[in-house]
Amino acid sequence: MADSQLAALEFFLQDHPEITYVPPFSPYYPAARKVWNVGRPDRPLAFLYPQSAEDVSAIVRYAKSAGIKFTIRAGGHNLEGRSIVENALTVDLRALRSVHVAADHQSATVGGGILASELGNELWKEGVATPLGAIPSVGYVGWATYGGYGSFSSNWGLGADQILGATLVNADGDIVKADEGLLKGLRGGGGVFGVIVDITIKVYPLKSLLAGAIMFNSQDVTNTFIDFNAEYEKLQDEGIPLELTVQQICFNAPPGRVYGVIFVWSGDDLEEGKRWNERISSLGPVVMNTVAVTTVPEYYAGNAGLVPNSAYGSTRTLNIRRTTPEVARAIGSSLAKMPSDPVTMLSVHQLRGPSAAPKENSVFGTREPHFMLEIIGCATAQEVREFSEEWAAHVVNAVQQTDSANILSTVYASLYPLGKGCQSSTLNKIFGSHTQEILALKDRYDPENVFSLTVPELK
Ligand SMILES: Cc1cc2nc3c(=O)[nH]c(=O)nc-3n(C[C@H](O)[C@H](O)[C@H](O)COP(=O)(O)OP(=O)(O)OC[C@H]3O[C@@H](n4cnc5c(N)ncnc54)[C@H](O)[C@@H]3O)c2cc1C
Repeated sequence: MADSQLAALEFFLQDHPEITYVPPFSPYYPAARKVWNVGRPDRPLAFLYPQSAEDVSAIVRYAKSAGIKFTIRAGGHNLEGRSIVENALTVDLRALRSVHVAADHQSATVGGGILASELGNELWKEGVATPLGAIPSVGYVGWATYGGYGSFSSNWGLGADQILGATLVNADGDIVKADEGLLKGLRGGGGVFGVIVDITIKVYPLKSLLAGAIMFNSQDVTNTFIDFNAEYEKLQDEGIPLELTVQQICFNAPPGRVYGVIFVWSGDDLEEGKRWNERISSLGPVVMNTVAVTTVPEYYAGNAGLVPNSAYGSTRTLNIRRTTPEVARAIGSSLAKMPSDPVTMLSVHQLRGPSAAPKENSVFGTREPHFMLEIIGCATAQEVREFSEEWAAHVVNAVQQTDSANILSTVYASLYPLGKGCQSSTLNKIFGSHTQEILALKDRYDPENVFSLTVPELK
């Protein structure tokens, strides 16, 4: 079956010589197969690298007519490695990474395969910025369209809330501009309706950036975490400016486990930002503080080593309203037991400000102020992954023993283990009150489920 599919595919490609083709017998196949989660055993039918929206359109039409299932890959950072699937064609969008900033500097149109750092660095040259994740190698569209918690979230909001327009290759293989219904689905629903070949997003003036890491003495990580969060909660009640985004992180550096925060101040008033650096630093026993006036390219260069570029294992996630003393004790005690692998880590993202308010133009499921726990149960070697996965499950379990009224019923799609196929309980957890709406949008825009191998699978 695979041989005849490849023969037919090669026949199709004779008319499309610009599309790069990597079949299983190619020496480039092993590298093409590499996604962030290298534990994924799946061997795709082949890899195709379209160079334009027209190429994507031709591929979708061909795959549909030949009955070949396909996946979309951009940055390859889906936590379960879902951009490669056994025997399915992988359409790799990495060639689509253009950036065009509008003349009024209020928006930018960017290619569907661009990475976070490529976008951030290009925008910086133009004196503008947009919400982005902290890790440079994550695909921008895959990050933004499922939600997109990141370094500027408190100030400008989620990635999904920046989306103004998009060009898609739809289920008929046509290149179309997204209408309002489709845009609503893309803001939280990701790539379930088609291949996003470009996306138009809001950008904001950013002349200076004050950013870096504040690391605390983590000998007694449990109490450092508890004490930091007790004080941070008090600060929240007093009021923290939206220009400040604080992402807590606990990971294993060469000298050992460290807990601290990534500090990003994107306001114009740098002196105020520096005062906030002092306030956040005062919430724990600082051992290192790299917060300084910097640039987006430098910020990304500094973050490049934060997370290893491949892993085995899986991720867990939960959303909580507040880091109550009870929750802080549960997480803090778990941190003391965190395996020492460089990919095992915990990150706490916060959503507050405008994106935390209910929105009618999006299907993103969690619209209230909250902390999103990113619990990475991954390891650098297959043999030890189970320890990290057990630890991640333990963190979730410990938090679930705390006041249930503080735990939200919805979760973040990009970090939630989706399992096999489509389960209505999973869709309800991701999309909450928008579940029926996204299913209706899927029926409207992709009734034949041409885009079936998506994150998540809707049918
Ligand atoms: C190390 C690491 C750090 C992370 N940090 C954060 C973080 O700080 N905040 C956060 O919110 N998330 C974070 N994530 C999650 C990440 O945002 C999602 O996994 C995201 O979907 C990855 O996109 P990608 O293009 O890199 O992945 P891929 O595996 O290439 O794509 C994932 C899926 O997204 C869809 N997709 C991607 N691009 C397109 C497109 N152009 N058209 C149609 N469908 C598309 C496809 O269904 C595809 O299978 C992180 C993940 C990792 C591994």
